[in-house]
Amino acid sequence: MRSVKIARTIIELNTLLNQYRISSTIGFVPTMGALHQGHLSLINESKMQCNFTVCSIFVNPTQFNDKKDLERYPRTEDEDLKLLKEANCDLVFLPSVLEMYPEPDKRVFDFGTLDKVLDGEARPGHFNGVAQIVSKLFDIVKPTKAFFGLKDYQQVLIIKALVKQLNFNIEIIACPILREKDGLAMSSRNALLNVSERKLAALIPQLMSSIPSLITAGYSFNRILLHFETKFLANGYNLDYLKLANAQTLQIENDFTDNHQQIVLIACFVGKIRLIDNLLL
Ligand code: AMP
Repeated sequence: MRSVKIARTIIELNTLLNQYRISSTIGFVPTMGALHQGHLSLINESKMQCNFTVCSIFVNPTQFNDKKDLERYPRTEDEDLKLLKEANCDLVFLPSVLEMYPEPDKRVFDFGTLDKVLDGEARPGHFNGVAQIVSKLFDIVKPTKAFFGLKDYQQVLIIKALVKQLNFNIEIIACPILREKDGLAMSSRNALLNVSERKLAALIPQLMSSIPSLITAGYSFNRILLHFETKFLANGYNLDYLKLANAQTLQIENDFTDNHQQIVLIACFVGKIRLIDNLLL
C-alpha cells in the first residue's frame, strides 16, 4: 500500500501535481468526505481510466441551503484518509473554506430547466453552489476526466452542462449507483440515521424497484405516486417529491412514454435526514 499524498492548499497541490500534468492522464473525484464504497467505486473507475487519481474532500458551504444540514454533515477525515490510502488514491486535496473562497463567490449560473426542477426547486441555490465549487475545483486540478455518481443524477447533467458552458476540456464520466445489501443507495447521510430510521429507509429502494412491474401491470404514474404516498404516510416518512422526467432534459412529465428515455426521481425525509434515489426506465 502506497501512502496518499495530501495537499491542503492550491500551492501544495500544484507542487505535487505539476510533475504529472504533461505525461499523465489525471482522474478527479470531487467529494464532501465521509467516504463509503460508493465514493471508492469512483476512485476505482478513475484508477482504471487514468494514471493519476486526485480526490478532493470539501464540505462546500455554498451548496447548503439549510444551515443545520451543513452543521450536521458528517466529517470523518482520519477514516477517509485511511480508505483513500487503501484504495491507492494518489493525491487528496483537503482545502479550507478560506482557501476555496478567499472572497465570496457572486457568480450566478443558469442551466435552463436542469437547475429549476426537482432538487433545484426543493433546495434553492443548491446547484448554483455546486457549480461554483466544481468549476473552482476543475480550474485548480485541471483533470483529464472527472467522475460523478448517478445517485446524484441531476448533478451529473448539470456538471455536463457546466463543462460545456465554461469550455472545460474535461470528460465527465457518470458511474453507477452503489447500494447497501437491502438496496438503499449508499450515502454519507445514511450514517446520520438511527437504527429504526435506517431500517425504514429500505422502503425507498423496495418501492423504487417495484416500479417496472407496476408499469407492466398498467399503472399510470399518478397511480404509482398515490401508492407511494400511502406507503410513506403509513411509515411516517415525509415524501419531498416523486417525479417522472425526461432523462435527458429533466423536463417533468405526467405519464410513461416509449418515445424517449425517462427517469423516476425521489427525495424524502426519514426523520430529519433527506435521502434521494432514482430509477432510469
Ligand atoms: P458527495 O460526497 O455526496 O458529494 O458525493 C461525491 C460523489 O460520489 C458524487 O459524484 C456522488 O454522486 C458520488 N456518490 C455518492 N454516493 C454514491 C453511490 N451510492 N454510488 C455511486 N456514487 C455515489
